[in-house]
Amino acid sequence: MSVISLNSYSLGRWIPPSGERQGLKSAVSGQVVAEIGSAALDFAGMADYARRVGGPALRKMTFHDRAFALKALAQYLNERREALYELSYETGATKPDSMIDIDGGIGTLFVYSSKARRELPDDRILTDGALEQLSRSGQFVGQHVATPLQGVAVHINAFNFPVWGMLEKLAPTLIAGVPAIVKPASATAWVAEACFRMVVESGLLPEGAVQFIAGSTGDLLDRLSGQDVVSFTGSAATAAMLKGKSAVIEKSVRFIAEQDSLNASVLGPDAAPGTPEFEAFIKEVHREMTAKAGQKCTAIRRIIVPQESRAAVIDALVARLERTVIGNPRDETVRMGALASLAQRSDVLEKASILGTEAKRIYGDPENFRVEGADAGEGAFVPPMLFSCEDLDAAQAVHAVEAFGPVSTVMAYRDLPHALALANRGEGSLVASVFTHDPAVARQAVLDAGAFHGRLYFANRDTGKEATGHGSPLPHMVHGGPGRAGGGEEMGGMRGVMHYMQRTAIQGSPDIIAGITQRYVAGASTFEAEPHPFRLAFGELAPGRTLWTAERTVTLEDIEHFATFTGDTFYAHMDEEAAAANPFFPGRVAHGYLILSFAAGLFVEPAPGPVLANYGLDNLRFMKPVSPGDSLKVRLTVKQKSRRNDEYGEVRWDVGVYNGEGEQVAAYELLTMNAM
Ligand code: NDP
Repeated sequence: MSVISLNSYSLGRWIPPSGERQGLKSAVSGQVVAEIGSAALDFAGMADYARRVGGPALRKMTFHDRAFALKALAQYLNERREALYELSYETGATKPDSMIDIDGGIGTLFVYSSKARRELPDDRILTDGALEQLSRSGQFVGQHVATPLQGVAVHINAFNFPVWGMLEKLAPTLIAGVPAIVKPASATAWVAEACFRMVVESGLLPEGAVQFIAGSTGDLLDRLSGQDVVSFTGSAATAAMLKGKSAVIEKSVRFIAEQDSLNASVLGPDAAPGTPEFEAFIKEVHREMTAKAGQKCTAIRRIIVPQESRAAVIDALVARLERTVIGNPRDETVRMGALASLAQRSDVLEKASILGTEAKRIYGDPENFRVEGADAGEGAFVPPMLFSCEDLDAAQAVHAVEAFGPVSTVMAYRDLPHALALANRGEGSLVASVFTHDPAVARQAVLDAGAFHGRLYFANRDTGKEATGHGSPLPHMVHGGPGRAGGGEEMGGMRGVMHYMQRTAIQGSPDIIAGITQRYVAGASTFEAEPHPFRLAFGELAPGRTLWTAERTVTLEDIEHFATFTGDTFYAHMDEEAAAANPFFPGRVAHGYLILSFAAGLFVEPAPGPVLANYGLDNLRFMKPVSPGDSLKVRLTVKQKSRRNDEYGEVRWDVGVYNGEGEQVAAYELLTMNAM
């Protein structure tokens, strides 16, 4: 492999390495594979370009526009994965390791695109929560909304996932409508650069939406303002240094940190040897120790097991570790490749020797292990190392020192509270898993340990093969953790998008709120017009457009007919005396479903037209009973619209059903799918 010059992408141009160049070495052969250096970059200009060009272009797009761009990008990258796998071998990663990184990153784009199109409006303003009535008559109301920050997101990524680490931060940032400057970790930057190059070449993102620094960030962090965000993954020491920068502190720059984490896995008290949970636990611990050679921020560092199962756990783990082939990741028989760099190797060995002062090494001798297909002296190879700590309550380092490699310590607990207290001694982690088939154990784990962990993962015979694994952060779920883990949160579905937006409380009249949010709110003006709204295509319906129907009277015969026809002969509809004895009813009343059915009969326009389907009802409330002889009349108001694709979109209708006195008897939101 010839030496790759890693380019930065600044102000829409590729910039070759400059200044003092650093040679980046293959983790497998120790040969220089790439060179990096960013001295010539104009960091202030990059931030300005993002704010001036990228931000406005992204903010012109709706959430859905941005989500469609992300989907197309995911498809584009998906077709080019092979080239990335090839480059990834030199980081020490096996093919399955690379799939976690590359396929995992692309998958995250797909999920964000799909969730954003389902959960966010096809709009540029996001409403957050319900309308708040702030005055007695309802003429002064409040609503929380969110809009994209008008700055730049600086993404500083870790070496262990050059692709996933980049894409999992880009997905929520771009959905939010914020441009990003990506700075990958140098050690594996040739993979990140290749993927970033594809992003640019796809032409799918607007100009200025993304830039890339191959090398150091220079004075970029000193140039940030209160509209900017730093999202960092790496060591606690670097995070603390960057968080402490005066611009970051003085301008209240948002700082999301994902850093060290001594993740625990607890074998439940019910999961004795021979149970499916025990088997699953052993498999998972082994997998987490060896996948990516233990260089996963979520890897299991502490193996917390019942005292009576300690020997069985150690025997089972050692048996698996002995079968783990270490070596050149291109070799298909190899299960565990190399660490990402020789510097990482030294760091892991140093941390392992610190752990060795408190725990006994029971497997893995770094001076004596077999490496297949590569020179152990040149590459960053280490064996998996299993420790066992006896004096748990006195031990400190096993709960505080993260050896970022295939290194884990077995700890034996007395009872469940002890196990959970041990898990919490990591002082904040990204994930803890509990292998149990007992819901009471799981509930106790959440009560005792939830506050210390960003994610709790419960595995047992029922989750089986469908479970995604202790170590897999999922785009739907929060990834981050308190304390030592950095105190940040990433992903978590649309929660992650909010990190790049400002929430603003808006207060005013219903018409003002409706105008801002482009959706009808209670108390806002409505208008009636011909034709019937069911005759109008998606694009022709405006929020506030209203249909008032004719009236119909509900008779006792209607109620009895509905009861016998549907089988719903509940006493409130059929037995006058029993109904009258009920504090809610004056006597026999109409079924709620009869009210809904009559409402549909009143507002429907039956001829074939743009309404394609009734998609469901939300927020249904029956507010007053309807007695035989009462009349019903319906108001149908377009509340909000959400495009699904080029052919149809969802229309949310605010529906009120009223009696002859004008009192509202039912309220709900009707969802229809309407053709464009
Ligand atoms: P670092 O904190 O050194 O690096 C993380 C990122 O920060 C890299 O992109 C790095 O760039 C960048 N960086 C370093 N210094 C600066 C600076 N002054 N200004 C701006 N950016 C900077 O961590 P490492 O990647 O070296 O890993 C060290 C340890 O961190 C691991 O051994 C592990 O314990 C922990 N770690 C934790 C992870 C987690 O997710 N929990 C993930 C990875 C690591 P560059 O590479 O160019 O120096």
